[in-house]
Amino acid sequence: MKHRNIIDYYQDDWWADAACLGTEPGMMFPMNEEQQRFVASTVCGQCAVRAECLEFALVTKQEHGVWGGDTESGRRHLLKISKAQKQA
Ligand code: SF4
Repeated sequence: MKHRNIIDYYQDDWWADAACLGTEPGMMFPMNEEQQRFVASTVCGQCAVRAECLEFALVTKQEHGVWGGDTESGRRHLLKISKAQKQA
């Protein structure tokens, strides 16, 4: 796989196909975990670019909001697993 730097991720065009495109701005940034899970399942569940979005969020370390069908705590967990695997 070709190495990509962080700028490459910001220049991707998957955003155009995002199911959340055009939604109310705060919708993807609910405050609590329960609301985040609901948005992740209802909005992201219909999204064609979910994998690209999750990869972007993990690579660019997006701390807040719902990305790629995952919550803030879900992404923190994935990053911990990834870090542990790199150290093993
Ligand atoms: S996966 Fe969710 S947050 Fe990401 S683009 Fe799709 S709808 Fe938006």
